[in-house]
Amino acid sequence: MSKIKFFLNESMPLEMHKVRVVQKLNLIPIEARKEALDQGGYNTFLLKNRDVFLDMLTDSGTNAMSDRQMASMMVADDSYAGSETFYRLEKTLQFFFQMKYFLPTHQGRACENIICKTFVKPGDVIPMNYHFTTTKAHIELNGGTVAEIFTDEALKVTSDCPFKGNIDLNKLQQLIKEVGVEHIPFLRIELGTNLIGGQPIALENILAVAKICHDHKIMVVTDASLLADNIHFNKEREEFCKNLSLHEIVLKIAEVTDIMYFSARKLGCVRGGGICVPTVELFDKMKDLIPLYEGFLTYGGMSVREMEAMAVGLEETLDPEMVNQGPQFIAEFGKKLMEQGVPIITPTGGLGCHVDARRFIPHVKSEEYPAGALAAAIYLISGVRGMERGTISETRNPDGSEHPAGVELVRLALPRRVFTMSQISYAVDRIAWLFQNRDLIKGLMFIDEPKVLRFFLGRLTPIDHWADKLMKKFREDFGDSL
Ligand SMILES: *Cc1c(COP(=O)(O)O)cnc(C)c1O
Repeated sequence: MSKIKFFLNESMPLEMHKVRVVQKLNLIPIEARKEALDQGGYNTFLLKNRDVFLDMLTDSGTNAMSDRQMASMMVADDSYAGSETFYRLEKTLQFFFQMKYFLPTHQGRACENIICKTFVKPGDVIPMNYHFTTTKAHIELNGGTVAEIFTDEALKVTSDCPFKGNIDLNKLQQLIKEVGVEHIPFLRIELGTNLIGGQPIALENILAVAKICHDHKIMVVTDASLLADNIHFNKEREEFCKNLSLHEIVLKIAEVTDIMYFSARKLGCVRGGGICVPTVELFDKMKDLIPLYEGFLTYGGMSVREMEAMAVGLEETLDPEMVNQGPQFIAEFGKKLMEQGVPIITPTGGLGCHVDARRFIPHVKSEEYPAGALAAAIYLISGVRGMERGTISETRNPDGSEHPAGVELVRLALPRRVFTMSQISYAVDRIAWLFQNRDLIKGLMFIDEPKVLRFFLGRLTPIDHWADKLMKKFREDFGDSL
């Protein structure tokens, strides 16, 4: 993909769109941010958006829509059954994946519920490159377990491996031998692996994995939520894809996939989701669950306006200048942080910039949640809201002990086309200051710990009142600045 060259001999990301609608932001003083953290149990999920300056929690449902998407919402056909909008979206998906059947759902995890309810039995093992929180929860809810068979590069925080999302083919063969095909209903491929830093999986790896699975009559399920970033990196980093268009890459993935599902909160930049399958047999196996959990088969819990906008968003996903926006901004964000010595995950991927909490605050043990503490500290000193992706996002071992996460990350997501370069510079400035004062950050401990998906609603408190000390230092250094 051609990048624009500059006279001043620097390369920087350039927006290939202009902003025509804006939303005013609030930046409240650090004392008010401390109050918000106290109220929200030092969990960034529990902050109110009005207390947040730059919301980098997630790209889920927060990407900017295009004018064409907005316009499409006006022609939505509102009807419970048989809406024209549904058939337009179905047609777009048939073109996009070349799969004939589409089951609409209200979001990505709903697809996981339907797929796992249909195919996962107690004792089953589901191999995958890496789990996603909701995926793992649904597999376990149905009595299965997740087997992650990533390569040795996957969890290395500094690497120049272009495809850390790849599956280790030997581990896959080994697992099939050990577990037996009868206990492996499907293998799951996650495009743009969310939890290890938006890292892509190579097309060549996908094809090799699918060949092994199909030789053993194991289905391939592809989670295409982060497809846009993944195909951008396939095109940019993979020799094999140099001469393929973005759509040809999508089709090569779809060709070896038995069940494709996605969260349209990411793919298509709207809110919704869906499952696409090539055969009527697979469609029939799952279709009865849609009216039960989602809504009638022609809306699946989505509003028709979102469905119209999704169809346009999917078309736009095949535009190189659309899919390169996220990764380019993330690369620049990462570069600026590294210039300040801030440890991040390299190479940068999609989704967001991932700060490595283990290296940022090595004095905080996994049991005291370094990623959670760092996410809280970043919000406190900047109003920037990131997300903990570390031990708090894991589940405790059956004996109640902590299960330390492979990596302790604070994800600073960059929803597509939302933030400007000066806002990113502000975030870099504050995080660089925090890095200089990192010794002040200590760990967190739970005061209220939910049993399932505790990262969403759990409440914690800072050990040794470190937040007060950090706030005091901020005031000393920044005076009465916001
Ligand atoms: C977000 C996400 C999901 C879940 O989708 P929701 O719409 O949030 O329910 C599943 N898989 C991946 C890879 C995701 O990023």
